[in-house]
Amino acid sequence: MQRLVGELSKLPGIGSRTAQRLAFHILRASDEDATALADSIREVKERIGLCEVCFNLTDEARCRICQDSRRDHGVICVVEEPGDVIPIERTHEYDGVYHVLGGALSPIEGIDAEDLKIAELLARVAAANGDTPAVREVVLATNPTTTGEATALYIADELHGRSPGLTVTRLASGLPVGSDLEYADEVTLGKAFAGRRSL
Ligand SMILES: [Zn+2]
Repeated sequence: MQRLVGELSKLPGIGSRTAQRLAFHILRASDEDATALADSIREVKERIGLCEVCFNLTDEARCRICQDSRRDHGVICVVEEPGDVIPIERTHEYDGVYHVLGGALSPIEGIDAEDLKIAELLARVAAANGDTPAVREVVLATNPTTTGEATALYIADELHGRSPGLTVTRLASGLPVGSDLEYADEVTLGKAFAGRRSL
């Protein structure tokens, strides 16, 4: 019991009280449910790896998005984590492909360019030839945080230096939909102003 509580409390957002509650819940659950949970954890570790092209999660060599010929392979959206692909897909606004960095640059945490899939991104952009279509645009969709911004600027710089014809864009920072201007914090409002577009 203690071992289960210990393992559960390693999960993000799970304190020791919650871990204990979950452990008791598992103990009371049917054998079938408890085994299904254990099996799914084992299976995800055995079968899920990273896509050889974009480093998104996949159970094949290439993820479904990279395999999809209906998607625009000339546009690459760069995100920090595999989990960032899901909300972008949910918008149905984007039909290009992705590149998952595996984090953001952070000198404080000792995360350098070599720790992220940045060289792989630069190689992808440069690789335009017969069978891979030329990349026209790279959308930098790293988080609007200090580390995310620093990562976007670093990559933009590297891309501009190597591929002068390439369009490099950053996601606009806007105001939350359905809220009033007076409730927006000044950083968000300032970014929304800087990123304004003509109508
Ligand atoms: Zn992929």
